[in-house]
Amino acid sequence: MASKDYYSILGVDKNASDDEIKSAYRKLAKKYHPDLNKDNPSAAEKFKEVNEAYEVLGDKQKRSNYDQFGSADGANFSDFFGGNGGFSGGFRTGGGFGDIFDDIFSAFGGRSGSGMGSGMVRGEDINVTLNISLKESAFGTSKDIRISKLEQCPHCNGTGAKNGTEFETCGDCKGAGRVRFQQNTIFGTTIREGLCNTCRGTGKKIREKCPECMGKGYTKVTKTVTVKVPAGIDNEQVLRMRGEGNAPTQSGISGDLNVKILLDKDKMLTRNGFDISLTLYVPFTMLLLGGKVEIPTLDGPYTLDIKELTQSGTVMRLKGKGVTELHKNSRGDMLVTLKSEAPGKMDKIVKEKIQELSETIKDSNYSKYTNFVENTKKYNEQ
Ligand SMILES: [Zn+2]
Ligand SMILES: [Zn+2]
Repeated sequence: MASKDYYSILGVDKNASDDEIKSAYRKLAKKYHPDLNKDNPSAAEKFKEVNEAYEVLGDKQKRSNYDQFGSADGANFSDFFGGNGGFSGGFRTGGGFGDIFDDIFSAFGGRSGSGMGSGMVRGEDINVTLNISLKESAFGTSKDIRISKLEQCPHCNGTGAKNGTEFETCGDCKGAGRVRFQQNTIFGTTIREGLCNTCRGTGKKIREKCPECMGKGYTKVTKTVTVKVPAGIDNEQVLRMRGEGNAPTQSGISGDLNVKILLDKDKMLTRNGFDISLTLYVPFTMLLLGGKVEIPTLDGPYTLDIKELTQSGTVMRLKGKGVTELHKNSRGDMLVTLKSEAPGKMDKIVKEKIQELSETIKDSNYSKYTNFVENTKKYNEQ
């Protein structure tokens, strides 16, 4: 996936203030808004790009990730649904878009409230799930998935007209896709604006239909999409690939492809946030005498060095052996909990030797146990 320079898309300096970014975005969003660019098919693409840039640069956290890590992970998959919860349709998923769109539409005499003008059509989102392993979630991966989707017909560039040229401007709306009509109400005559029924908002009248798509302007295709899964992604998080969803059935912009990540359970390691945990039972003698045990880690085998006189329940922290933190270079830790395993059985000789051993260790050596015994005595005397 090509990386994009969001700053140059918005035409602002890397040090631009939030206000400068907002104002640059508003200017460009007006300039390229599809409702105002009926005769310029490339405007919709520009509009999408401008929105994508603003969704990142207009958000403090996303902008700082983007500044730090460029487009490596942030550009095309910048958005997790965290705040909105799950899959959400509609255009105004990013915080703060609403008022800006309302401003644009009121400035142009369009509808307010809905956020999008009625001429603006967005294709449907496609929601899929993708299973990945713990290791893949820790270090990131790239996976090909097959999806079925509506795509703009390449033979007519989505116009629905043969060769993309066999159409003329709709006479009823003069190509605007919208018409004004008078309405008489008890309050007097009002002028209202709505979608042109003749051309269904496209502004075009087709002379000869495109034979490939039968004049629809879109076709159903099965496609392989490469999903770049960033390191650190966790179970049930959603990667949104902007514009990779279904093409709209009228002129407009494509929906998104939402890829919900499902983390396969690992046979040995457990993930908690960016940390990895492992419970390790060792012979009780190893906790007394010390020893070495080979354990699995995300980075391959690792030899754990257990010091002598280690208490059961001790958690050994292996710094930086956890999962890569999302959009960061740092990694979480691996936590190994050591537990004492008593032998499954012991014969007479072993039992006698252990008894002998047990008697040679003074009770005062067991500070926790001795404290407990004393505290219990006091407690029960109350
Ligand atoms: Zn029309
Ligand atoms: Zn076609």
